[in-house]
Amino acid sequence: MATRETQIGRWRIRALNDARFALDGGAMFGVVPRVMWESLTEVHDDHTIPMATTPFLLEDDAGHVILIEPGMGRRWGDRQKSMFHIDHSGGHDLLESLAAAGVAPSAVTHCLMSHCHFDHIGAACDESGEPVFPNAQHWAAKVEIDAGIESGHLRRASYRREDIEPIEKAGLLHTYDKEVEIAPGVSMVALGGHSEGVSVILIRDAGETACFWSDVVPTRHHVHLPFLMAYDLNAEASFAVRKKWIPRAAAQGWVALLYHDPDEVMGRFVELKPGRFGWKAL
Ligand SMILES: [Zn+2]
Repeated sequence: MATRETQIGRWRIRALNDARFALDGGAMFGVVPRVMWESLTEVHDDHTIPMATTPFLLEDDAGHVILIEPGMGRRWGDRQKSMFHIDHSGGHDLLESLAAAGVAPSAVTHCLMSHCHFDHIGAACDESGEPVFPNAQHWAAKVEIDAGIESGHLRRASYRREDIEPIEKAGLLHTYDKEVEIAPGVSMVALGGHSEGVSVILIRDAGETACFWSDVVPTRHHVHLPFLMAYDLNAEASFAVRKKWIPRAAAQGWVALLYHDPDEVMGRFVELKPGRFGWKAL
């Protein structure tokens, strides 16, 4: 059973469940030829590969209840449900998962959104379109909010205005440009590449660090530096970000929190040989 809970100083970190789904394997590995990735993962008949959405819960003894990445949510039409194989059965539902962790939606103090793609923030609003976490400060990079609201964006299909507007209307939305500290030792850092404002979320305390990688490193098969997704808006920027951050995380032994991996969500990046990075489960 893969590890789903750890502690960084004062912060208890737990993996939650939101959904299982699937995306086109070719799109997930960009220019990497299929012969190089098909042995890494199961591949379905329609060429999709299994994925998950895994939000994380951060709690301390000072009353912070921080949700990292709300998740895919349930506001999906039949076509999308079948195209993306969206599956909430077997406890893969954010609210069920939160309840199992003993947390009511009203108790969440912060909801951190690494970027505004639909599979990351869809669960922040319910099926009637209302914010799910009425007392939470919701945080995202300003450029992500702008991209989510603008209609002519190249990656328009990855954003839904209705994921953002209700949160803004309720006065719950907070934005940052480059970096913001949310709570002691917890910060969001906008890196760009995958999307204009995609951010990593760092949890640092007592000399240890954990990092939520969002779509900078979506699964354990994407630790190798050139394994970029075709979804990345700016491949060169994404590669530059990864080349800087993945070696740093490996050298310093950071705990990695992965959002999209269907099997292993906590581990470490390791340097297998000079310049070649891989994954070791926690
Ligand atoms: Zn994304």
